[in-house]
Parts: sequence; C-alpha cells; structure tokens
Amino acid sequence: SDQGNRKYLDGLNPAQLEAVQQLDGPVLMLAGAGTGKTRALMARVAHLITCHRANASQILAVTFTNKAAKEMQVRLQNTPYDMQEPIRWMGTFHSISAKMLRRHAELVGLKSNFTILDTDDQLRLLKQLVAAANIDDKRWPARQLASLIDGWKNRALTPEKLPSADAGAYNNMGGTLYAQYQTRLKELNAVDFGDLLLHMVTIFQDNPDILANYQRWFRYILVDEYQDTNVAQYLWLRLLASAHKNICCVGDDDQSIYGWRGAEVGNILRFEKDFPGAHVVRLEQNYRSTGNILAAASSVIRGNKNRLGKELWTEADMGDKVRLIGHWDGEEEARWIGEEVEAMQRGTRGLAPKSLEDMAILVRASHQMRAFEDRFLTIGLPYRVIGGPRFYERLEIRDAMAYFRLVVSPDDDLAFERIVNTPKRGLGNVAQQKIQTCARANRVSLVEGARILLEEKGIGGKGAKELATLLDGLDRWRKQGTAPIVEVPLDDDAVIDDGATQTAMRLQESAPELNHVELAQVILDESGYTAMWQNDKTPEAPGRLENLKELVKALESFDNLQGFLEHVSLIMDNESEDAEQKISIMTLHAAKGLEFPAVFLPGWEDGLFPSQRSMDESGLKGLEEERRLAYVGITRAEEICTISFAGNRRVFGQWQSQLPSRFIDELSEENVEVLTPPGLYGHGGGSRDFGGSFGQSGLEQSAMRADAYNSPGWKRMQSRAGQYGTSQPKESASSAINLTAESSFMVGERVFHQKFGYGNVLAIEGEKLSVGFDKAGEKKLVARFLSKAND
Ligand code: ATP
Ligand code: MG
Repeated sequence: SDQGNRKYLDGLNPAQLEAVQQLDGPVLMLAGAGTGKTRALMARVAHLITCHRANASQILAVTFTNKAAKEMQVRLQNTPYDMQEPIRWMGTFHSISAKMLRRHAELVGLKSNFTILDTDDQLRLLKQLVAAANIDDKRWPARQLASLIDGWKNRALTPEKLPSADAGAYNNMGGTLYAQYQTRLKELNAVDFGDLLLHMVTIFQDNPDILANYQRWFRYILVDEYQDTNVAQYLWLRLLASAHKNICCVGDDDQSIYGWRGAEVGNILRFEKDFPGAHVVRLEQNYRSTGNILAAASSVIRGNKNRLGKELWTEADMGDKVRLIGHWDGEEEARWIGEEVEAMQRGTRGLAPKSLEDMAILVRASHQMRAFEDRFLTIGLPYRVIGGPRFYERLEIRDAMAYFRLVVSPDDDLAFERIVNTPKRGLGNVAQQKIQTCARANRVSLVEGARILLEEKGIGGKGAKELATLLDGLDRWRKQGTAPIVEVPLDDDAVIDDGATQTAMRLQESAPELNHVELAQVILDESGYTAMWQNDKTPEAPGRLENLKELVKALESFDNLQGFLEHVSLIMDNESEDAEQKISIMTLHAAKGLEFPAVFLPGWEDGLFPSQRSMDESGLKGLEEERRLAYVGITRAEEICTISFAGNRRVFGQWQSQLPSRFIDELSEENVEVLTPPGLYGHGGGSRDFGGSFGQSGLEQSAMRADAYNSPGWKRMQSRAGQYGTSQPKESASSAINLTAESSFMVGERVFHQKFGYGNVLAIEGEKLSVGFDKAGEKKLVARFLSKAND
C-alpha cells in the first residue's frame, strides 16, 4: 500500500534516489550547489516515515542557520508524503541542543529556565570579570577574550580540558578568566550560544545512560550543510550516531564558509574514516541556476587550490548573463538597486514581473545593509533584514526584553542591571554598588540582594521607595503570568498513562490571570518604561514606541513568555509573519542553502569582498574562504545575478577609494554582461559623465575597470598599487562628497515619508526636520527618511 504513496520520489535522479533509499548505515552526499541535496534529504525524511523506519519524532534533522531550518520545514511541507505529525527534532544545532539542555540542566548546575545570553550580554559579563582581575581593557580588550572563549567552545574545550598553550593566552589569564566566566554563568543561571552544545556534549560524555536513551530514540540522523560543522557539533553528532550509525550527512566542500567560526571542512573529508563502509553519493546536475550563472560561479571557485574539484552541469538554458555594474559610491549603488528592484517588479527586459519575495540582496558585511535599508525606507520598498543587527537588538527592545527575562527568571542579574535604573529611579552607581555588595555578601541574586538591602534599610530616600516598587512589580507580574495549580474533580472516565483510574481529585494548571501578551503590556506600562519614551522629546522616541508595540505584537504567535525569549535569543532573523511581500537583505553567510530567482551581490571591492583581513593574511586560507563565499553568493541565483561595486565608500566617516574585487577579474568573460551605470545624472552632476565609456569598454575586465571613470582620482587608481598607498587621491574624495551631499530641504517644501505620507516642512535644525504631515500631524524626523514629494 506504500508503493502508490511514494510521490516524493518522483523526478529525483538516480543518484538522489540512491541517497534517499539507502536507509541503513552511514550515507554521505557530497555535491555542489543546487544539485538537490536538501531536496533529497527531505525526501529521505518522507521515505523513513513512509517505510515505517521511524516515526516523526524519532528523526533528528539538523542544519546550520535558522533560515535554513525554516526552509527545511517549508520544503518538507511541500514534499508529497503522508505526514502525520511534524518533525519535532528538526532545527539548528543550537535550537535542538537548547531543547535537550532544558531537560538535563541540573546535570551541569543550571535550572531548566536558564537564560540564553546574546553576545552583548556575554561581553558585558566578560568586561566585569576583566575589570575585577585588574586587567587593562585597552591592551587586552574583553572582546578578544570573548572570541577566544567562543573558539574554545567551538572546539569542545571546557576550562578543565583547555590545553596550557591556550590557557596562557590573553596575558596569561585566558584559562583563569574562562573558568570564572563559566562559574559566573552558572550563578546567573545562564548559558551562551557555545554552551548549548558544549553542555550537551559534556552531559552525553558523563552520563552514558542519558546518551543511550537519545541514541535509541533518534533512529535516524540527518545533517544538512555538514561542511560547516565545528568540533563541538561534530562530537555531538558522533556521540548520537555511534550506536546505530544511521546518519546521513550532506554537504559541499566548496561552500564551507564558517572556518572563522571554527568549522572544520575536514569533518566532511573524515566522514568515511569515522563511519567505515559509508555510502558516498555524488550529485552533479544543478537544477537551480541558468547556464551563465552556473558557469560564472564555477569560473570563480576554480581559483581555489584546496578543493575536491567537481564540475556541475545543467539542462537549463544559458539564460541571462551575470550582470556587472560599477557605481560612484555606495549610496548610488543602493539607489540603482532600488530602481532595478522596482523595474523587475514591473517586468523588465522581456522578463515576467517578479515578486519582492523572489529577490534578495546578499552583502559581505552587515554594515553594508544600512544603505539599502535607508534607501528602501525612503522609496517605500518593503524589505526584511535577515541576520545582522536587527529589530531585537534595538535599545528599547533589549530593555523591554530585560524586563521580561527578569519576570521569567529572577536570577537574571544581567537583566536586572540593565533595567534597575531605566527609567530613572534614583538608583545610580552608588545604589547599584550597594545592591551588588549585598547580593555578593549573601550569595544571592541581585533581585534578592536588593530585597535584603531594603529590609536592612541599607538604602533610603527616593531610590528606596522606587526600588521597593520595582521589586513588588516583578513579584506581581510573575504571579499574574503564572498559572496557579488548583485541585479539580476528576472526570469519571479519566485515566492516566498506565491505565489505572485516578482518585477523586487531581491537580491541574488553571489559566493565569493575564496571558503573556497582556502581561507584556502590563510590565511595560507599570514599570514606567512606556512612559519614559512617551515623555522623551527626541525625534527617535515615536519610533521606539512603535517598536515596543511591534514587540508586544510579536508575542502573539507564542504560547508563553519563556518560549518567546528563547526564540529571540536563538533567532538570527526577524522575519515578521505578516503577509506583505518583501525583498530580503542578508549576509552571504546567512544565505547558505537558500535560492532566489533574482540576486543582487553589491560591494564587490577589494578590502570589502574579499575582506581586508583575508587579503592581509599570509597564506591562502582566508582568501579561499572568501572565494567560496563568492561561489555561495552567485549560486543562490536562479535567473538573474547582478554583481556591483562602488568606487568610493565611506568607512568610519572617511571617504575611501575602492578597487573592484579581484573576484570580478576571475569571472569568465563570456558569461558576464557589463552594464552602464545610468544613475549618476540624477544628481545633477551632468558634467561628470564618467559612466559613458563604461559599457563601451567591452568585456575585457581590467580595461573596463580602468575606463570606468574619468575622474582624476580614478585614473590614479588604475593600477592596484595605487590602492596600497596611505594617502587617498584628494580629488576623488572631495568630489565624492559633493556628489552625495544630503539633498537639502527647504521650509515649506512638500515631502513624503514612507509611514506618515505627505506633508510640508515646517522647520529645519541641521539634520532634523519638523514636518506637518497631512494625516499624521507634526513629527520631527531625520532628513534621510524623507524624500521630495515632487519627484
Ligand atoms: P545548496 O548546496 O545550495 O544547499 P542543494 O544541493 O541543497 O543546494 P536544493 O536546494 O535541494 O540543492 O535544490 C536546488 C533546486 O533544485 C531546488 O529548487 C530543488 O527543488 C530543485 N531540484 C532538486 N532536485 C531536483 C530534481 N531531481 N528535479 C528537479 N528539480 C530539482
Ligand atoms: Mg541545500
């Protein structure tokens, strides 16, 4: 009866079928981008369930990024098979580990409601430890310690296992501070990202019975993006798979892009050694991209010496060539891309109209996103940022979350420190110091310490009164949000698991006084936090209040506050669930495994991409990783791939001349079309027609680069050597500033704002404008969020 039910196998090629149907023992699928690895992996899940090899909860399916995990869920939903229940253990290494760790937290000295710290909290904590150790933070930045500790955790090294060479790092204090940091985390009932895996590995290693349970439970293990696993993840997987060895890993050595975070491409090459007799499947047909895109991607990755080397082919048409365009500066690049996006929405060059969902902008560094965000806000183009600085990292959101965290876990000292005097409660440094001292003396959390301090009258005046109000508030909110346990009469036919009928009464959770959404609002209002921003007269305040509303709204899709907090600490994207179509902006790292009909790859300039660090490094390792990143970027595109670069960029407030990326030179000419940048005329700088010769220079890349611009600054940069000089061409720098000077508004001028609509400028104070909007009334805004209404 299963036979007719195997629609999910339809259309798979023989190699994919092999990977799907080889159910017993280890399987390694090693293949290039877009060859259907993830698709085969999802078909394998369907097959396991259809063949009754495992039920949905006995399959462990892991991938690397949240976005990729979400994509797996979607793919599986689109896989035609008889799905009875969702695959509960499908997610990222981190989210799955967090779920496991909640069950066993006490084994590593934590409580199950532990907090997951983000990098900001982590750094604050480390700074405190560094200060306490009398280490000069200037010479030995805490950030450096943070990255050392991350690195050790990625290598599965607990403080006890740290080799002495490592322990001696950071002015001989590395090992000591690492141990102190771990102790402090336990006191705070908190973990950082690295701990999620490290603690589970420790638990597995120290508790064979627990490990055996999981080994029995997870009958099959599937891993996507295996090339990016680090040592800790590798150990975690190997421990779980070592009994039955039913593990299927898929990956591509050409897409290994997390070396800087401790990923070891060696893991993929070692697979056959670790799992002798592994079934290795290679896929070569690419189903994603057109011929030109695939050929251009292949031409770049061929520049890497350290690779297994595989050639991909496609049955698809050659399609459009990869488009290459140079711009004067980053603003111009963003402006042009905005226009291209709108043109694609309308349907351009004979192509069918595209939805914003079909487009993505993939940047090398997250700071590149700002130019696009600003531009898109101005023209009202809906976008979402995936990864990078995001909604949940905004100040007001972090403050609000600290309140929520403190209500859920009273031991969360970092959250307490963050909000104790926000809004101002007359609890400045002196009062906070007293609380710290009292907490330490009594070996309790700061909340408890504050309570004791109040009882002992160790603090007085306004501060004491306000502190008491805050502590009462925290208690009250916690109660209001907690479901009381009540005794209820038992239904006659109620049975418990073993079949025996219960006695007359049983305990049951009743509904809490407030649901978590109401509770969140109450916390923000009663703590005075909302009022703080309402009374704030800075131009940013209205936006912050909007964000707080958005935060409360976001809670609706969760069951409780704790689930939400966990979600926020784990997510790498802030994708709102609303139905509006949006273009995606994300880093190349976050784009792994995804695909889009149209992809923009901006900022292909030496020093940005490849990164300066990779260029400065001796040896090829860094540069080869950057090149793999370029390969990942190009291979995300299905139909249209547009690469761009800018001649000038503002770096830390300074204009800097840029050279087109060396990877541009490596693109195979026959697969590339060079576009003429039209946008420069829009600035009214008509005399500067350096765009003109651009398209005519043909496909010879270097000549194209040299001819691209007529400005003297550019001419000085024709040779690479020019770039390495310390002085920047002055002409170029100053003309760049002229070109991009903020468009000035005049009082009385008609303007447009994405959210508030049309209005008139009432007053101007430098960058800030007062605008009377037709509908929204008077608002103070920063000029760059406004556009002139008459264009
Ligand atoms: P990446 O390395 O980028 O993660 P991948 O190898 O995981 O790529 P998939 O994302 O699984 O590749 O597949 C790429 C595209 O090709 C998807 O749109 C997928 O649906 C399609 N595809 C995969 N296999 C086939 C097939 N046998 N026939 C038709 N289309 C396929
Ligand atoms: Mg994939």
